Amino acid sequence: MPPCPPVSRRLLLGRLASGTGIIGTFLLPGRMDAALAAAASGTAAHGRTATRPPAPLVMLDPGHGGKDPGAVGVSGTYEKHVSLAAALELKRQLEAEGRYRVALTRTRDTFIPLDDRVARAQAHGAALFVSMHADALSDHSVRGASVYTLADSASDAQTAALARRENSADRFGGAGFNTSPEIARILASLVRRETRIGSSQLARSMVGNLDDNLPMLPNPERHAGFVVLKAADIPSVLVEMGFMSNPVDEAELRRPRHRTRIAEAMKRAVDAYFVTAARVAQDDRAKWMSD
Ligand SMILES: [Zn+2]
Repeated sequence: MPPCPPVSRRLLLGRLASGTGIIGTFLLPGRMDAALAAAASGTAAHGRTATRPPAPLVMLDPGHGGKDPGAVGVSGTYEKHVSLAAALELKRQLEAEGRYRVALTRTRDTFIPLDDRVARAQAHGAALFVSMHADALSDHSVRGASVYTLADSASDAQTAALARRENSADRFGGAGFNTSPEIARILASLVRRETRIGSSQLARSMVGNLDDNLPMLPNPERHAGFVVLKAADIPSVLVEMGFMSNPVDEAELRRPRHRTRIAEAMKRAVDAYFVTAARVAQDDRAKWMSD
């Protein structure tokens, strides 16, 4: 956040019976001045000039792309194509009712470094960030969807290995990305508490909705040090929609109808997230007013 220097302001404190205003000059901390200005414009907007705030922006992040194919399926399907097709379907569904604005980190088969994906979400002022993938394991019998949030340590060894695979996407970028455990810990600690709470609310909602419609991994809500989830101010989750290494999951992920079902579940999860977020904000406001 840019620094806010103190500002000298003349404020109207009240009026005498004669109508003469009592004015004082104060040196206000910059942030307080900005808050007063926002409050004043809010009061002004309360009347007939009130405008609706813009719909929240959901940033979808189709994994991989360009020279990075992601996981390669048992019959040769590339994860990058499945993730983009699913993200475009989810975009269509989210935009259908006009309740959200939606942007994608990529809309074509192009390579984008992980940090750039986070930066794009921040540049758009995203309210949510949803990264979409399909995993692969040497054990071809494993199938099912799972949902991940950022943490400084992985919930289990399998998730630690997944985070290494997803984070290694940047090796296609040339310089190579190598996060030491120390850096990963610092990055994770930078993520604000409210953002962490939002991320886990969204993850829980994703798991609950996907679980009704799809096979899931055991303990499908997991966490690890994913680079792409490190936006300090945007609740972020990574969804693995299934396994490219499992013949059934791969065949399903290739089918538009199956991707539509995944997107429907994810849209319900996003809807539920915003309903909860609005309720929490309302409770906070009520508490603040009564204090
Ligand atoms: Zn991936």
